[in-house]
Amino acid sequence: MTQHHPSETHLVEYAAGALPQGMSLLVAAHLNYCPACRATVRAAEAVGGLMIEDGALEPSPLARAAPDLGRVLPPDEGKRPAIDVPSPLRPYIGSRLADVRWRTFWPGMQTVRIACPDDPSDVSLLRLRPGTGMPVHSHGGEELTLVLQGSYTDETGRYAVGDVAIGDPNLSHRPVADDGAHCVCFTVVDAPLRFASPLARLASKILLR
Ligand SMILES: [Zn+2]
Repeated sequence: MTQHHPSETHLVEYAAGALPQGMSLLVAAHLNYCPACRATVRAAEAVGGLMIEDGALEPSPLARAAPDLGRVLPPDEGKRPAIDVPSPLRPYIGSRLADVRWRTFWPGMQTVRIACPDDPSDVSLLRLRPGTGMPVHSHGGEELTLVLQGSYTDETGRYAVGDVAIGDPNLSHRPVADDGAHCVCFTVVDAPLRFASPLARLASKILLR
């Protein structure tokens, strides 16, 4: 049962096809774990669909260009246990975290950059040894973190598999991996340019009113 979720804004923007590729992937992966957020996205899609039918909204160019990113993907429940990567992420990182080619950049901490050609955000996987903490940091943009394996704790709480942490640009925090398995996270740090087009920005604003 997930305890920490993307914001309602992220979910509605996801449903409108207005999120950049990295954040869209992260939200799609969270939906695999979270029936509550799946219900929110379906409701937002239904509202958006009605507004498009009424001519109040144009479908966003991003949603037209990449329809798979704008749709709710089926949950992974009941799949084989060997597959530990949510289905939306498998085209990018494969189906097993054990097969990822990690690069060590700090003692006990490894990373790998995920290629998202259509998105200037910093999209990566992070792997922390149990008990290892990241150096204290803050970020220029918004940071979203989805836990794929293990768990970690920081000043804002404890985050386990399926949980999403939202890092405010002003937040300074120090995540420490809990005892047990290595903690693996999918992280996206937003670039200043958040929306692919003015139309997508407008669509999400109308939906959020
Ligand atoms: Zn959720």
